[in-house]
Amino acid sequence: MDAEQSLRHEVALANRIIERFGLSNAFGHVSARIPGTNTFVFPTRRSPGLADENRLLVLDTDGNILAGEGTPNSEFWIHARTYAARPDVGGVVHAHPPACISLTQIGQPHRVVHNSGGPFIDGVPEYERIGLIRSRELGDALAGRLGGGIAVMMRGHGFTTALADVKSATVAACYLEESADLQLRMLAAAGGDATRIRAYTRDEAELVRGQISASVISRAWEYYSIAAEQLPLGG
Ligand SMILES: [Zn+2]
Repeated sequence: MDAEQSLRHEVALANRIIERFGLSNAFGHVSARIPGTNTFVFPTRRSPGLADENRLLVLDTDGNILAGEGTPNSEFWIHARTYAARPDVGGVVHAHPPACISLTQIGQPHRVVHNSGGPFIDGVPEYERIGLIRSRELGDALAGRLGGGIAVMMRGHGFTTALADVKSATVAACYLEESADLQLRMLAAAGGDATRIRAYTRDEAELVRGQISASVISRAWEYYSIAAEQLPLGG
């Protein structure tokens, strides 16, 4: 398998992972930058759970379709403008995960409440405007809120993660939803009193920041990718 085919395989798999693990259903998408270019591999307009490595498109950061047949998912501007703004980013996940959406709608910022939340020690900014990202301008606005970080919450909508490669972006997405789900459970168990949650201090969170290191990503990707192939469509 050559490098581009390998990348296409990873992108299709990553799309299936976010669907199988409940981060998205009919909507949501994962992309990967073709290394050293301003182009990226992106799925056609269908559920991420149905992504096929032989039916992916190549787009550029201006939203042009350079290769492939079919129509891109309509929020491709999220990916295009994130890659444009962030030369360090090689993988982008956009999903609609229920726990993260719930956090945004009760006005609770993400907090580090378990070890896998460590990578989000610097906080997860929120993009407050509701609705889909279907223009270059909105893509630029979202990328602006992401800034130099690895994730941005999107109020009432979902989130976007952006990391060095597609595997890291996908694992981070799974971590972030797991973390938000735990935070909601803790908030409910604490009777809605957020001050009772023993969120990690900065020093404590520093101890688990490495949950996004290459060796951990490799192990997590192995699990998510194999499990995703065995889970049924629709969870
Ligand atoms: Zn969306």
